[in-house]
Amino acid sequence: METTGVDNWTKAHEEYVFAPYIQPLSLGHPSKFNAPDPEIDDTPTAAEESLLKKLLRKTLIESKQEVEIQRKNPNSPLYSVKSFEDLKLQPKLLRGVYDMGFMKPSKIQEMALPTLLADPPGNMIAQSQSGTGKTAAFVLAMLSRVDTSKSYPQVLCLSPTYELAIQTGEEAAKMSKHCPEIKLKYAVRGEMLSRGEKITEHIIIGTPGKVLDWSLKFRFFDLTKINVFVLDEADVMIATQGYQSQCIRMHKLLSKTCSIMFFSATYEKEVMEFAEMIVDDPMIIRLRKEEECLDNVKQFLVQCQTEEAKYDAITTIYTNLTGQAIIFCRTRTTAGWLARKMMDEGFTVAVLSGDMTVEERIGVLDLFKEGCVTVMVTTNVLSRGIDVDQVSLVVNYDLPVDRQCNADHETYLHRIGRTGRFGKKGIAINLIDSPQAMAICQEMERHFGKKIELLDIECRDLKAKIRE
Ligand code: ADP
Repeated sequence: METTGVDNWTKAHEEYVFAPYIQPLSLGHPSKFNAPDPEIDDTPTAAEESLLKKLLRKTLIESKQEVEIQRKNPNSPLYSVKSFEDLKLQPKLLRGVYDMGFMKPSKIQEMALPTLLADPPGNMIAQSQSGTGKTAAFVLAMLSRVDTSKSYPQVLCLSPTYELAIQTGEEAAKMSKHCPEIKLKYAVRGEMLSRGEKITEHIIIGTPGKVLDWSLKFRFFDLTKINVFVLDEADVMIATQGYQSQCIRMHKLLSKTCSIMFFSATYEKEVMEFAEMIVDDPMIIRLRKEEECLDNVKQFLVQCQTEEAKYDAITTIYTNLTGQAIIFCRTRTTAGWLARKMMDEGFTVAVLSGDMTVEERIGVLDLFKEGCVTVMVTTNVLSRGIDVDQVSLVVNYDLPVDRQCNADHETYLHRIGRTGRFGKKGIAINLIDSPQAMAICQEMERHFGKKIELLDIECRDLKAKIRE
């Protein structure tokens, strides 16, 4: 497939050299637990998180959960496929799929593809966690529906950001590498067309604002001729001001026969309300996420009076372990201070915080995944959904709290869930430097019903105690 427009994002990404992975650091003293701090809100946006996951995930997540299906229309086809051959794809597309190294459909693809590829395809709402094969499923459906004898857009895919749109386009380019006749146009920032021009490409992938302008304001293409309308990352979409109403405006202009495909990584009430507004008579496919749990994680608390004592606790524990460690701090300043101090003492440390671009974060995470960095000091920017298999120690330098300084259970679970993955044993250490921190730690213990053991780092058999 040929793609037009857009500067070569992938190339820029590949050529990106992650120069100083230790950020310029503030060497100030870390902020105290309760001090108000403008830099504590380091949680990534939904779009940033989604892009990071996509760029980091190079393999499929195989879920053990069963697929749940709901359909309002009992006449819609309900069958699954066990191989790509069963789908009766055009041979050139099938070759593309195999060239990507896909041997068999993923769980969500098994159930979704027969409906997405039926003639006419059925409407669908599909939800499963990131990395389970949703993009590959709808990209295949989009490519299969193009009639190359017609030179106008027939398939429209909306993504919440420029970067996510490019990711989808690149997946489409790979899958259709044996079909150069299929043409794709990006409708994203930076793309320009002259007044009166008409788009001749078959597939448009873009962000809602730009696509709305191109269709309604400039009439570069005709929405009524779109056969397949894909709404990707709907949960991220609704997190962006104005996008939901723009999608609804576009949807109103589509023909009655247009198939609507709606994808989301989460299944919250708002997402489903949005879905029901724009998808008539859908087949709903859900793959529940396996719950994160703390069963494989041994949790400790260490009482420390000073920042120095917190630092000593980390280094003492870490030198008694093998593997990699992630240390979570509340502020960027603390993270910077700690990383510099550890680096000065010879640890291979990287810092990852919300003031870094997505490319910089990926640079750091890649170094960590490759084992070039053994300790990662971070803020909440890394608390969710990023798997690094070999993490054996998670340290809460500061316990996670919400804006009112109450225990943030969900973030605690996500942080601690970074270790003890895939059946391995993990260790989590909470550094307690104040009565408030102790109260929060006790609250975590009560909430999860799991013991957080007091650890004396001066004890002789520390190694055995941590590992037993
Ligand atoms: P999602 O959209 O749910 O986040 P993707 O479609 O991006 O998931 O798939 C996640 C990763 O798995 C990608 O690297 C993709 O190339 C790969 N993948 C998708 N489908 C298959 C498959 N059937 N077999 C092997 N790998 C696959």
